Amino acid sequence: MKAIQLRRPGNVALVDVPVPTPQPDQLLIRTGASVICTSDLNDIRENPFHIPLPVVLGHEGAGTVAAVGRDVRGFAPGDRVATHPVHPCRACRRCQAGMGHLCLNMGHFGLNMPGTFADYYVVRQDRARVVPPDVPFELAALAEPVCVCLQALAQARLDPSGTLLILGDGPFGVLTATLATASGLNHVVLAGHHDYRLAFARTANTVNVKGNPDVLAALRSATLATEYDAAILAVGNPAAVGQALQLVRAKGRVVIFSAVLQPMPLDLFTVHVRELEIVGACNDQDRLDEAVRLLSHPSLALGSLVTHRFTATHYDQALRTAADAHDRAMKVALLWQEQTPS
Ligand SMILES: [Zn+2]
Ligand SMILES: [Zn+2]
Repeated sequence: MKAIQLRRPGNVALVDVPVPTPQPDQLLIRTGASVICTSDLNDIRENPFHIPLPVVLGHEGAGTVAAVGRDVRGFAPGDRVATHPVHPCRACRRCQAGMGHLCLNMGHFGLNMPGTFADYYVVRQDRARVVPPDVPFELAALAEPVCVCLQALAQARLDPSGTLLILGDGPFGVLTATLATASGLNHVVLAGHHDYRLAFARTANTVNVKGNPDVLAALRSATLATEYDAAILAVGNPAAVGQALQLVRAKGRVVIFSAVLQPMPLDLFTVHVRELEIVGACNDQDRLDEAVRLLSHPSLALGSLVTHRFTATHYDQALRTAADAHDRAMKVALLWQEQTPS
């Protein structure tokens, strides 16, 4: 089968590899669509998670069940499914403590399991959900991004009257803003640098801070409260962490949702005197059912976030678009041809 492989940092190729064999508890998925994530681009550039290479890239994917392992129940070939890349072991102390998303022996697509940028991939049965027929694969492939955005919101621990600032207008920032307002939050401000991207957040207040000499003032005046109960960092820019710390109220929370890859100085004096909380958000704690429900929610129109589609042979262009086209692209999907396993 065809697969997009990361061979070493900066070196990606479309290669022929064997179709993976499903374990007894796994489904073999014939990929319908896989979607490029910022973390794939980080992996390609500098491999921050030290993934053993070569690896088939990709963790966002959806497709049709092609075969099932002998212990699989509730799925049959032909089912259309969304899949989740994180496979908790269910046995380690973190899994036992209800933190499967922080599992010590986690299986993960594109890391220690083959990724979704391939004609076929395997998923453990508990990490797949059948999706309604009207949900296209490229939308179903957004199940995991929706999950992690829900987790970032949960980490912000806001009540419905809470005021939320989201820094970063990439797909995660826009998706989080959309889900935040859909969850009933009335005061959501999304800040970014691209009018094109901000326009996708139809239900939040948006502020373009590009070139603004006083970002803090602009974001303070964007909320009636002048302070935010929480800020979610959806951009890997270290300066934004400092801004978030200045903009949340006393006892407020800053959620580090994007990967800030370099160590950075942090104003801990502000954290100290205003009793701030800094919390992380990366994987999600079992939000797949909720995410799949939201995918088919017509008023959210989450499918509109996928703005570009490429076939696998044009993977190079697809990756470049996802990495560079911030003023004309959001989520970029790879579409895979249907074929029989070979
Ligand atoms: Zn992702
Ligand atoms: Zn575990």
